[in-house]
Amino acid sequence: MESVSQSALLNKSVRQQYMSLPQGQQCQVTYIWIDGSGEGLRNKTRTLDEEPKSIEDIPEWNYDGSSTDQAEGSNSDMYLIPVKMFRDPFTLDPNKLVLCEVLNCDRIPAKTNLRTSCKAVMDVVKEHCLWFGMEQEYTLLGINGHPFSWPPNGYPEPQGLYYCGLGAEHAYGRDIVECHYKACLYAGVKICGTNAEVMPSQWEFQVGPCEGIEMGDHLWVARFLLHRVCEDFGVTATMDPKPVEDWNGAGCHTNISSNQMRDEGGLQYINQAIEKLRIKHKEHIVVYDPHGGEDNKRRLTGLHETSNIQNFSAGVADRSASIRIPRQVDQDKKGYFEDRRPAANCNPYAVTEAITKTCFLDSEEN
Ligand code: ADP
Ligand code: MN
Ligand code: MN
Ligand code: MN
Repeated sequence: MESVSQSALLNKSVRQQYMSLPQGQQCQVTYIWIDGSGEGLRNKTRTLDEEPKSIEDIPEWNYDGSSTDQAEGSNSDMYLIPVKMFRDPFTLDPNKLVLCEVLNCDRIPAKTNLRTSCKAVMDVVKEHCLWFGMEQEYTLLGINGHPFSWPPNGYPEPQGLYYCGLGAEHAYGRDIVECHYKACLYAGVKICGTNAEVMPSQWEFQVGPCEGIEMGDHLWVARFLLHRVCEDFGVTATMDPKPVEDWNGAGCHTNISSNQMRDEGGLQYINQAIEKLRIKHKEHIVVYDPHGGEDNKRRLTGLHETSNIQNFSAGVADRSASIRIPRQVDQDKKGYFEDRRPAANCNPYAVTEAITKTCFLDSEEN
């Protein structure tokens, strides 16, 4: 089977003629939501008579939940509630992308809509001014499911020169990384960097710092943009935390700070938060991938720059610990810390909610 899709091979200069047609006052708005798998994204587009100036100008909509594993066919309508608007880097201004929450027919959050409860928790701890930054690792695959550009049989050269590497023999698929970066900047997604990862065809982008609920919103839209860019190039991106046995897996390191941690002497608050996380290790592992820890079990082995899933550990500059305090933060005695446990396919709403509850909600509220 081919590794690049037929769609990617269609004539793109013909496409360009249509894409450059004027569209008058009308505006295309693409609604994006999380489907019943809790990992997949869906989208559909409608025309509005004029450009929405803010999220309030975008009407609710609905879709067939029986086709996304979210409802029965006999009562299938699900509501799309717009929550965050971005510019559309594919059809360009004035067109929009809008991230939505999903409500069922009784207007109750769908099972895989974890944003509602995350937002409620973030609202309670507002005075801490929590900042998050997430490092999304992912692996490029051909549409045949094989790691992109790997030999059809066998393996590329062993790990060593791929991390932050360059050159045709080390960097596989950089076009996608660069186009995705530009697409995020245009859209208004708070992407703050990218790098090539340890396994060839594995890459990372970072989003942040984002305050509270923004973290999940921006990471989900960044993922949407990645899948769309990959579609244009005819390949796919997987968030599987361990796509190839015996090679580095893919995580979604989550960095956290509060206003106290960022202030002079904040390291003591970082250490307090780490002790709270230590006690709740098992509960956190359950929410750090969409399958209760099953996906992460393949990744958190204690090898390949990970901690063992059974144990909690923390250390300065320690990439085999559950929690890493960056060296600079230890020197400055203030800053942020990194939870290295979340899997690449984690739900950022679940991860940021769990960390916030454990570290920042008073125990009587928790
Ligand atoms: P690493 O050395 O772990 O690979 P990266 O540079 O890939 O680090 O990612 C660092 C992440 O930390 C980014 O997502 C960034 O937004 C986030 N970050 C930086 N400063 C803070 C802070 N004060 N609070 C929370 N997150 C932060
Ligand atoms: Mn990183
Ligand atoms: Mn990384
Ligand atoms: Mn990291």
